[in-house]
Amino acid sequence: MALHYGQAIFEGMKATKNIDGKPFLFRPEEHAKRLNRSAARMCMPALPEEIFLDALQCLIDIDQDWIPDIQGSSLYLRPFMFATDPFLGVRPANEYTFMIITSPVGPYYAHPVKLLAETTYVRAVKGGTGEAKAAGNYAASLLPAKLAQEKGFDQVMWLDGVHFEEIQEVGTMNLMFVIDNMVITPKTDGAILKGITRDTILQILKYKNIPFEERVITISEVMEAGAKGSLKEIFGVGTAAVVVPVKELTYKTDTIKIEIPSENAIGSILKKEIENLRAGVVEDQFGWLVPVIGIGAEKPVSAPMS
Ligand SMILES: *Cc1c(COP(=O)(O)O)cnc(C)c1O
Repeated sequence: MALHYGQAIFEGMKATKNIDGKPFLFRPEEHAKRLNRSAARMCMPALPEEIFLDALQCLIDIDQDWIPDIQGSSLYLRPFMFATDPFLGVRPANEYTFMIITSPVGPYYAHPVKLLAETTYVRAVKGGTGEAKAAGNYAASLLPAKLAQEKGFDQVMWLDGVHFEEIQEVGTMNLMFVIDNMVITPKTDGAILKGITRDTILQILKYKNIPFEERVITISEVMEAGAKGSLKEIFGVGTAAVVVPVKELTYKTDTIKIEIPSENAIGSILKKEIENLRAGVVEDQFGWLVPVIGIGAEKPVSAPMS
């Protein structure tokens, strides 16, 4: 049924080792909760958070040697759930499979990207499925992304589906803007994916007393700020690359360029802070790191390979 009616959702997260080589998860409960919010929207059953967390603990405990030792690298984790009834007919499925696959990923140098503000296609509208991490949202984004790439852009910046004015996000990242000294991020409105990195960054900004606003931000406002020089930074935020600087933004016939951020740019500071937290070189006042300790009974005792 997933193939025909699209009940398929996923999460994306990472296990990393701290400087002492101990494996950790980062805010796994938030991923468990978001999977269930996605499930609710797609009319799929909730997965008990405990199963989600125990499955991760068990799997990473077994697979921890696959977490690379190099700082900044990690074991990417992809939990996902999909409908499996062998059935045709539009209704919620009765049977689902939940799986987790993993892959080691190297330190990710996020090269600055060129964005195209999309004025033909939309990713999501309020009331739609934009807030769910649902497979179908990505299917809908592939054509506009391909067309933008053919024109030399890296990714599209999604605008709201009614007036094409309010900025939403980019492909797999939420967006942050620094105008004068204020960090601004679009307020989530039902059409924007609620990124955990976005939330992590907002909490770090609050803790560091860096002023920020969650509000509607329009493409006109950003282009104007770019033209008059008050736009200091734009960056995307998400689990995969943490922080990705934007070096160019095109909207209709106008293009603004943004200087490649220095080490003192807010985006660079935030990226460093998150990497330091994960590495255990700064104290985790937030309680975000969860050690991987396995779940005793489920550990393979002799690990027969057959
Ligand atoms: C996963 C995702 C993000 C980023 O979320 P994180 O939890 O920070 O990784 C942003 N936008 C979309 C569309 C996503 O699917």
